[in-house]
Amino acid sequence: MTLSTTESGQNPASTGERPRVLSGMRPTGKLHLGNYMGALYNWVKLQHEYECYFFLADYHALTTDYADTSKIKENRSDVLLDFLAGGLDPKLCTIFAQSAVPAHFELHVLLSNITPLSWLERVPSYKDQQEQLREKDLATYGFLGYPLLQSADILLYKPKYVPVGQDQAAHVEITREIARRFNHIYGAREDQALGSAHSDKEKLAEELSSPASIILPEPDVLLTPSPKLPGLDGRKMSKSYGNTILLSEEEPVLRQKLKGMVTDPARVRRTDPGNPEVCPVFDLHKVFSSEEVKAEASEGCRTAGIGCIQCKGWLADAVVRELVPIQERRRYFEANPDEVASILQAGNARANERANQTLQEVRVAMGVD
Ligand code: SF4
Repeated sequence: MTLSTTESGQNPASTGERPRVLSGMRPTGKLHLGNYMGALYNWVKLQHEYECYFFLADYHALTTDYADTSKIKENRSDVLLDFLAGGLDPKLCTIFAQSAVPAHFELHVLLSNITPLSWLERVPSYKDQQEQLREKDLATYGFLGYPLLQSADILLYKPKYVPVGQDQAAHVEITREIARRFNHIYGAREDQALGSAHSDKEKLAEELSSPASIILPEPDVLLTPSPKLPGLDGRKMSKSYGNTILLSEEEPVLRQKLKGMVTDPARVRRTDPGNPEVCPVFDLHKVFSSEEVKAEASEGCRTAGIGCIQCKGWLADAVVRELVPIQERRRYFEANPDEVASILQAGNARANERANQTLQEVRVAMGVD
């Protein structure tokens, strides 16, 4: 199996006229089923339909974990392996590391000059996360400016779409607002730089609203399915809750973990009938099991025809089936670090090329080229 780029180094995915898509993931460690179903699973499908750029948002990891950066490199390698194991194919998409594309940071600084502070302060996750992560001092510019760095990440690639689940659609809105503001302030200046004089106010207003003035196009949200995926304790599956099942989880560990998963609390004894609709185990069945197994588990639960251990065993079978090809690919890439490094290198080069084009247009528009 060889998953490198073509001999010319050109990504076949970027040669067509397909709409561009961009998304990234903060490398916080090995990916779990929640990360997979919430993002990576969709990305793997999107790479067949769109010109896709997917990145490791390693600088974003600094915004909350600046005090201890010892794990960032290892986490980045793990997430890259999981990207490839999960099915991202460098022949179909561009995979890169944010830290390898300096244009992200320059655009962040340039955009910081036009971004009202209040826009950043009102981002809902700013206050929420500060509340949730009280043990960390997040009264930093890096944390406040995180949505702006995210906007720079997106706008550099001029994507048509940013794939997100329903609950994150609002996160793309600030990017759209920043793009709109940028275009309104500098949109006409690009034409001036090209030689047209616009001293007349009315003409300038006309220019600002014309499509030709758009330097940073506003991306649209591409809503992707993001099924409810509870962790072992019934709360949302999340590394910070310690309730995850990793994509790279070995089968015996996975089975053991699922055995201990919480169930319908009303089903205390084996003889008590249960309600699958309130059971987190059944939520996972909905995602991973076949229609037959789901029907059998539901009926068996309601009639006390099966015990929870048997039900969890069926679930484990389905999850293991899903993970076998992923883990096979991971083993392959773990054994071929040079190939992984060259995939990232080629992706970084393509990302730099694309990002630098936009950055140059921005510099010209702002008069700082
Ligand atoms: S039988 Fe299955 S669905 Fe019903 S409570 Fe037990 S684990 Fe949950």
